[in-house]
Amino acid sequence: MANKKVKVLILGGGFGGLKTALGLAGQPELDVTLLSDQADFRYYPTLYHAATGGKMTASSIPLAEILKDKNITIEKGTAKKLDRQAKTVKTAAGRELPYDKLVLSLGVVTNYFGIKGLKEYSFGIKSQAESQRLRDHIHKLLIDDGKPDLNYVVIGGGPTGVELAGALPAYIRHVMKMHNLRPKRLNIELVEAAPRLMPRMSKDYSRAVARRLRKLGIKLYLHQAVQAETADSLMVNGKPLKSHTVIWTAGVTNHPFFEDNKFAFGEHGKVQVDKYLQAEDDIFVIGDNAGTEYSGMAQTALHDGQTVAENLIRQAHGKKMKKYRTKKPIYVTPAGPGWAAMQWGPVHLYGWLGWVGRSAGDFAGFHDYEPWRLAGRHWIAEYQNENTCPVCAAQA
Ligand SMILES: Cc1cc2nc3c(=O)[nH]c(=O)nc-3n(C[C@H](O)[C@H](O)[C@H](O)COP(=O)(O)OP(=O)(O)OC[C@H]3O[C@@H](n4cnc5c(N)ncnc54)[C@H](O)[C@@H]3O)c2cc1C
Repeated sequence: MANKKVKVLILGGGFGGLKTALGLAGQPELDVTLLSDQADFRYYPTLYHAATGGKMTASSIPLAEILKDKNITIEKGTAKKLDRQAKTVKTAAGRELPYDKLVLSLGVVTNYFGIKGLKEYSFGIKSQAESQRLRDHIHKLLIDDGKPDLNYVVIGGGPTGVELAGALPAYIRHVMKMHNLRPKRLNIELVEAAPRLMPRMSKDYSRAVARRLRKLGIKLYLHQAVQAETADSLMVNGKPLKSHTVIWTAGVTNHPFFEDNKFAFGEHGKVQVDKYLQAEDDIFVIGDNAGTEYSGMAQTALHDGQTVAENLIRQAHGKKMKKYRTKKPIYVTPAGPGWAAMQWGPVHLYGWLGWVGRSAGDFAGFHDYEPWRLAGRHWIAEYQNENTCPVCAAQA
């Protein structure tokens, strides 16, 4: 009788989950299922561009396209309940998926830290839908009132806030031109609670990014706490900043699945994992969910997915698993057209060269999931724009 295949169930079709699935593809001993609550893989690093007129297809790739001919079953559904005894995961729709080995890579969710009004009034860029909503809002103010919102506030001086704030001035000027409006002075503000931008990076890096944003005309409010938001203003350190467009990029928290299913947490609310990235026997937790040194970066999720896939293959061949070794990411933060800060070990690059580094990194990022031809197509899309506003479309 043929040996029974090992059932591997992967939860989450993002950076970590998808990389695990690709690493396991074509293994005859394994029966692999990828469960994701959406049909597409989100390439987050280009979402700031999608929010400022870039092509949505650069940040959204169908899972079916990436996993075509890969012998992986794709299930669409939302994971809800883990039954450790029965070794199953139940979805919101009531489906029960069995596993021998479970890999969790569910990503993080937005956290407003209970700040009044933020959830109701702020915008975000954590998905295509959120990016599209922000883009539509910027145009809608022009179509409805014939005048743009001249005040924009980005909350969060981490990579997402910096990328978005850097891209906003050129985009809003472009939109004003498309709507036949005379150029007006924009007031773009960035609020950060820490004393400097990019607090996880070196002081040099922070300084270079701050200089660049100021050069683009962005006002920085550092060491300032956001207290509340209303429909037309944001309270920061007891003073109102007038704006109808506040974008929240400052907070995320671990996925609720882990608390709901009684996992053990370590620092920063991340799930505790052992030297093989296991939270428990046969349950691997990777990417943003796991308490590893460089958690919170796509490159880490990729590395984790690769490691777990290799170990599952080793186990299927009766070999011992290899210990997880952390991998220091390359940090690249674009801020406005043709400029990025880059830190690769001791090498720091600011400006055009950093931008080239980022561009090369994105190409490599797409190729992590796709053959060169398709990766090239998505990479080119990153430099293309699209008009979803009827006024702009008529002008183009
Ligand atoms: C705007 C933005 C820009 C970023 N830019 C960079 C960058 O330039 N460089 C970098 O290294 N990192 C960047 N990151 C961080 C990077 O995207 C994350 O570290 C990475 O996505 C983590 O991978 P993951 O697999 O842990 O989670 P994700 O990639 O978020 O994948 C989680 C997947 O699980 C699915 N899912 C969620 N809940 C369920 C459920 N209950 N059931 C089934 N499926 C579910 C989600 O839909 C998603 O497909 C950025 C993040 C954001 C938000």
